[in-house]
Amino acid sequence: MSAPNKSYDPVEVEALKPEEIERMRDEALAAFEAAADLDALTHAKTAHTGPTSPLSLANREIGALPPQAKAEAGKRVGMARGAVNKALAARLAVLEAERDERVLVEEAVDVTLPYDRVPAGARHPLTTFMERVADVFVAMGYEVAEGPEVEAEWFNFDALNFVPDHPARQMQDTFFVQGADGKKTDESGVVLRTHTSPVQARALLERREPPVYVVCPGRVYRTDELDATHTPVFHQIELLAVDEGLTMADLKGTLDHMVQALFGEGVKTRLRPHYFPFTEPSAEMDMVCYVCRGESVGNPDRPCRTCGSEGWIELGGCGMVNPKVLTACGVDPEKYSGFAFGFGIERMLMFRHNVEDMRDMVEGDVRFTRPFGMEI
Ligand SMILES: [Zn+2]
Repeated sequence: MSAPNKSYDPVEVEALKPEEIERMRDEALAAFEAAADLDALTHAKTAHTGPTSPLSLANREIGALPPQAKAEAGKRVGMARGAVNKALAARLAVLEAERDERVLVEEAVDVTLPYDRVPAGARHPLTTFMERVADVFVAMGYEVAEGPEVEAEWFNFDALNFVPDHPARQMQDTFFVQGADGKKTDESGVVLRTHTSPVQARALLERREPPVYVVCPGRVYRTDELDATHTPVFHQIELLAVDEGLTMADLKGTLDHMVQALFGEGVKTRLRPHYFPFTEPSAEMDMVCYVCRGESVGNPDRPCRTCGSEGWIELGGCGMVNPKVLTACGVDPEKYSGFAFGFGIERMLMFRHNVEDMRDMVEGDVRFTRPFGMEI
């Protein structure tokens, strides 16, 4: 950079001569044009428009000129810089367009290529249906409770008021893991749980003080052969409510709400007297057939496959929790009452979707599960 001029002499300010400015401009334009890619252009940009580029340095010289020469020199440099910036922008646009086009070609995906991926799996309809049932109760404020599948005989039977010689404990119904024979009354064996009811006892013992509102979905085991209507491993969902002042009316209302949530508006339930050791009174519960709504009864012209033209579908068992069960679980039956019910998920899935053979649910054939959709 030259020292400030005291007396104006354009010859001394070499960098600001018109031909010199033109040369700098043309060099810049040539450099941009020669840039073959965006990297090269970035370098050319720094060299010709950066703070140490010839035009920037010349621009600084303007300050050293006497006032009468500043305007003309400023205009000259400004025009040159304008032309350089314009050329730079134009070249940048060209190179960017070329790059985009190249990326499109290089990264193109051929969507017509053969497809050989393994199809994504989905959850089994039993699992998704069991969760859907549990969700009905979670929406009412119930908590989901789970227990072990290998269960103490005490939880599976004794706590639930099964007497020691109750037939359900026999080898032909129950898988004993330990203590199958020579059972003494003071010794509790270990079984694969035969129902989800032991989770009730666990929930009461763990929580100690009611109110207790739990829903227990889970896998259970019985010594049945696998055939069209039986399987040694199946699923149940069990409900338990213990609070002050609960009655059969609460049980009935809860059942009606559940079947309406699962099968549609207006579906009703009915209770038929029955016996279970852990409830008193006990009942079998049926629901109105959600397909014919009872209209197939005595109407041979309109038979119903879902209910066998009976008008009702058997759902499962229920009742008021036996005070002996409350006592065994440390709950005062004078103060609290409760209701419980449970049913088999397989059975419900069968009549809800017209599944005729239970084996379809366990054999893992995707032709069975695929129509249920892809709930993940
Ligand atoms: Zn029907």
